[in-house]
Amino acid sequence: MSETTETIFSKIIRREIPVDIVYEDDLALAFKDIHPQAPVHILVIPKKPIPTLADAESQDHALLGHLLLTAKRVAKEAGLENGYRVVINTGDDGGQTVYHLHLHILGGRQLSWPPG
Ligand code: AMP
Repeated sequence: MSETTETIFSKIIRREIPVDIVYEDDLALAFKDIHPQAPVHILVIPKKPIPTLADAESQDHALLGHLLLTAKRVAKEAGLENGYRVVINTGDDGGQTVYHLHLHILGGRQLSWPPG
């Protein structure tokens, strides 16, 4: 779908742009979204610059699982015992604006459905 290109998230991984990091390991980074859409809004990103979910390949299956488990861990540490939503906006119609795969973790209020 998309070519691998430098994004603002690459700069965040390299610590060239400051963010509020809540979790990091060898494969993933989680930080607070700069424009939160809920009381808790955290992004989980792979350090590997996969542009979109549609660009993920079978060799990424363990990484994708790791990102979901990281989302679960981060949500628990954020105190979202009452539930939360994990969103992966994908491509233009999906509303993706940063072309580096990321999971949104949204919580801390009742979320409506369907999303806009
Ligand atoms: P998406 O629209 O799904 O591509 O989500 C991109 C998200 O990145 C948006 O929610 C932005 O608010 C967030 N974002 C962009 N730049 C930054 C930044 N420097 N620090 C934290 N979050 C950011």
